Amino acid sequence: MRQSIDVHDLGGRPLIVGAGIAGLMTALHLAPEPVLILSKARLGEEASSAWAQGGLAASLGPDDSSDLHLADTLAAGDGLCDAQIAEKVVRAAPAAVEALAGFGVRFDKAADGTLLFGLEAAHRRRRIVHAGGDATGREIMRTLISAVRRTPSITVLEGIEVRRLLVDDGAVSGVLGVGSSGPVLFTTGRVVIATGGIGGLFHDTTNPSGSFGQGLALAARAGAEFADLEFVQFHPTALDGHDRPMRLVSEAVRGEGAILIDETGRRFLEAVPGAELASRDVVARAVAAHLAKGHRVFLDAREKPGAAFAARFPAIAAACHARGIDPSREPIPVRPAAHYHMGGIAVDINGQSSVPGLWACGEVACTGLHGANRLASNSLTEAAVFSRWVAESVGGATMRSSLQPVSVPVPCAADPATLRCVVSRVLGAVRDGEALLDAIPLLLSLADRQGPASDPAAIALMIAVSALMRKESRGAHFRSDYPCRSERARHARLTLDQAFEAGRGLIPEPALASARSA
Ligand SMILES: Cc1cc2nc3c(=O)[nH]c(=O)nc-3n(C[C@H](O)[C@H](O)[C@H](O)COP(=O)(O)OP(=O)(O)OC[C@H]3O[C@@H](n4cnc5c(N)ncnc54)[C@H](O)[C@@H]3O)c2cc1C
Repeated sequence: MRQSIDVHDLGGRPLIVGAGIAGLMTALHLAPEPVLILSKARLGEEASSAWAQGGLAASLGPDDSSDLHLADTLAAGDGLCDAQIAEKVVRAAPAAVEALAGFGVRFDKAADGTLLFGLEAAHRRRRIVHAGGDATGREIMRTLISAVRRTPSITVLEGIEVRRLLVDDGAVSGVLGVGSSGPVLFTTGRVVIATGGIGGLFHDTTNPSGSFGQGLALAARAGAEFADLEFVQFHPTALDGHDRPMRLVSEAVRGEGAILIDETGRRFLEAVPGAELASRDVVARAVAAHLAKGHRVFLDAREKPGAAFAARFPAIAAACHARGIDPSREPIPVRPAAHYHMGGIAVDINGQSSVPGLWACGEVACTGLHGANRLASNSLTEAAVFSRWVAESVGGATMRSSLQPVSVPVPCAADPATLRCVVSRVLGAVRDGEALLDAIPLLLSLADRQGPASDPAAIALMIAVSALMRKESRGAHFRSDYPCRSERARHARLTLDQAFEAGRGLIPEPALASARSA
């Protein structure tokens, strides 16, 4: 569809797509350089950042060090972290927490004024700084939004959904968005994507339903390279019920002593090393396997944190009460849900992608910090740390003059609804080659057509191809047909064109033809 389009030349000024912690902090670090933020939702809405409960990991405690934080990060990443990046991030984490406090975030403190630290799975120390008990994201977003509103160099346009990046001679030259008054085009040679995760591609997710990988699709259609897309983290304890997205019951609740039981009261994880605080993928698969055997699974917080539950976790307590559950007196029904994407747009230490003029920050990026599995609460830390490095790189980049495109087709709004079934079935916590192969013709044919499922299918195709190519189980990626880890850890790099080519090569032509005609 071609329509008349409003064109705004930003004169080379940076443009940020997305207004979670990554987008807002990048804009604040860019000040006083003028910057435009586009967000499809109103500030503070439809952003995972606002929903974060546990907090940020940083080695600020007296018994902690960045070496210990690094060791825990590398262990969770299961051989695929970039050790140099991880070291830089954990060392920069305390300063990023300070930067947030400088913007006005009120982290929880003891009566003597020292920071309080939460404990989450696979951390050897209490190192999660939090705010408002379990309302860390809400407090961070409240503060950042108010800082952004007070900063004259930052312009925010809410209600603009970015649907395409413009690319000219291999480099970014602007973005095409659609708002309430129709399509609008912003030309600039410096664009930062900060659009968050992909949970909305799955039926069971803790992410806002608008988080379904639109930023990945923007970069994919612009020819960017992606890294390790197959690694999707499933959170073991989302509140089981009819609501979608699902409410998260933070790992910090298990950190405070809650245990997982089934309907008979049996603690079925007792024999697993680390038990309830084993790494997330181990716990998520154990819960999924127990559910698959016909059991129900509950988080039992009656003894610990017990009566202290509502004071320490007020938002989770309120969500439970809204469903008629008192967590200090009865077990909370839980099931795993898609929660965090480790893979993403491949970026360097400056957040720069393979496409000149395109940076990525936050969950949409793959920096190398998380490897095959994210250590709990390392993602807010990553976004806070990288936002400064991205801002320095964007600020230092030369302003390329941008071209006025003559005519640009406007894609229709993306909608992953028709895909959720297949994505949930083949890309869940346990995968197998046959099911992945079966899904490829459908994903190929949808990704290749125009329509609401096209962009979500392109992302699902890339994840499925990456999952097929990884013939091992590592971190959050588990293949029932390849249950062991291969000896050599390798990264997966992929562009959308390569995914199409690999997908077509994997399936017989008749299967593709019948998917096209379906
Ligand atoms: C329930 C929950 C709890 C969590 N708890 C923690 C925790 O305790 N600690 C931790 O470290 N991590 C936690 N995480 C993960 C962490 O919150 C996210 O990884 C992080 O907030 C991502 O930030 P972001 O800025 O990259 O994306 P988001 O905060 O998701 O923001 C994305 C922004 O992009 C906008 N957007 C998307 N597509 C478009 C488009 N096409 N055009 C324009 N705008 C667009 C959205 O409207 C939004 O403004 C949690 C996640 C969830 C869901």
